[in-house]
Amino acid sequence: MLLAPNAQYERWKPADDIMPEECGVFGIFMNDRHYDPAEAAYLGLYALQHRGQESAGIAVTDGKCVKQHKGMGLCSEVFKDNLDKLLGGHIAIGHVRYSTTGESKGENAQPLVISYRGGKLSLAHNGNLINSTTLREKMEEEGTVFQTSLDTEVMANLIAKYSKRGLLNAISAMMKVVKGSYALMIMTQDELVAVRDPLGIRPLALGKLDDNYIVASESCAFDAIDAEFVRDVRPGEIIVVNKDGLKSYQAQSSMETALCVFEYVYFARPDSDIDGISVYRSRENMGTRLAQAFPIDADLVSDVPDSATPAASGYAAESGIPYAKALSKNRYVGRTFIQPSQALRERGVKLKLNAMKRNVHGKRLILIDDSIVRGTTSRKIVEMLRLAGAREVHMLISSPPVICPCFFGIDTPSHDQLIGSKNSVEEIRRIIGADTLHYLSIGDLLKTVEGAGCNFCTGCFDGHYPIDMKRALEETEAVELSGIE
Ligand code: AMP
Repeated sequence: MLLAPNAQYERWKPADDIMPEECGVFGIFMNDRHYDPAEAAYLGLYALQHRGQESAGIAVTDGKCVKQHKGMGLCSEVFKDNLDKLLGGHIAIGHVRYSTTGESKGENAQPLVISYRGGKLSLAHNGNLINSTTLREKMEEEGTVFQTSLDTEVMANLIAKYSKRGLLNAISAMMKVVKGSYALMIMTQDELVAVRDPLGIRPLALGKLDDNYIVASESCAFDAIDAEFVRDVRPGEIIVVNKDGLKSYQAQSSMETALCVFEYVYFARPDSDIDGISVYRSRENMGTRLAQAFPIDADLVSDVPDSATPAASGYAAESGIPYAKALSKNRYVGRTFIQPSQALRERGVKLKLNAMKRNVHGKRLILIDDSIVRGTTSRKIVEMLRLAGAREVHMLISSPPVICPCFFGIDTPSHDQLIGSKNSVEEIRRIIGADTLHYLSIGDLLKTVEGAGCNFCTGCFDGHYPIDMKRALEETEAVELSGIE
């Protein structure tokens, strides 16, 4: 059962106004010298760059010491002159981080490397803990010192706290205390450990290259190093890889799972499979369903590149209306969504997307985007297309209106900035200036990911979050950290 909708959210406010982090994680244990782990991590992170462009980092061990390099920027910039310093180990973990409204500074780059009684522990995390502030306060009262504002450091310190009973038990104890989403990579001097939260909110996949195991946020990272996809890491599973091979432990199993459906809508790469479903096929199917639900008499179907391209192709195939490009994308502009001010965001859309005048002039257009968040992109695009001579602009969105913030790892702003939270579909249509506006229903969206073998978190679309946040916080207040077994 999914718990507690809007009313409950209202009673729960995110600490320090820090919103979740979108990130990509990668880990590899090398038994042979087929690839250098640092090189493999670099290539894997490159493939996961869409999951985070703010900072990148790799930590490597050769069994004796841990070397790491991390910094602000894209993988190509961060490792340009530094990859060779990391060569020669047998295990590597890596991380790419997406700047959101949280603190954007170098010390928050990952992996995080700490020293504990077992030696060195390196961690890389994708996701967001909803009780980290309370846990941090409790631990600070006990004398723990924190160097960063990362949730990852809360998890690292909990593992260190419980490590007397061995790493596996310590991780399992940490999992009893933290609440939220985590796809977590942990590296010791002789083991690679991968952990997925009990609800499976963020994706995590297992791959293999000969006898070497790899774990990554998305399967596209395996293709980058010619590795094969083995399976998804199960919700609540701890995978331990060492020189003797791979062992799996089910630390926590819940009856419910809640994979983030927004991974399919926008976040993941189309060439990835997540929990058995092709991201591309699901997006194409979103377009097919839009065409069935909203047949429109028009001359062209087009997309807001790139995340809506498969949906536009699905709509075109189903409707028989030809597909053509209405917008050209400047590949050298980063994501516009995260710019700090509205003026910069608007300028960003114009720099990133330009109308293809010859394609759209005099045409009745169906334009498909994957989502409307603040409404900046759609408003600017409709204006651009009209200026380029489009006769009609029908906007179709391959997901439902985003009405609630995400607390589990997607950068979705607070209620007051979400156009879908304050306005009806007709009001949004008027604001963005489209002739018509239609959204895919939640029911249709869920049909596009049917067969995934898990349930989904649809919190941003309906306010139904998979964790009862108030109860989670009350439990955290009450918990005796030293009493966890
Ligand atoms: P907006 O302009 O605020 O309405 O944002 C919608 C546009 O941003 C769409 O074109 C989406 O493809 C894209 N988008 C949606 N969610 C995110 C996100 N979490 N991070 C970055 N871009 C996003």
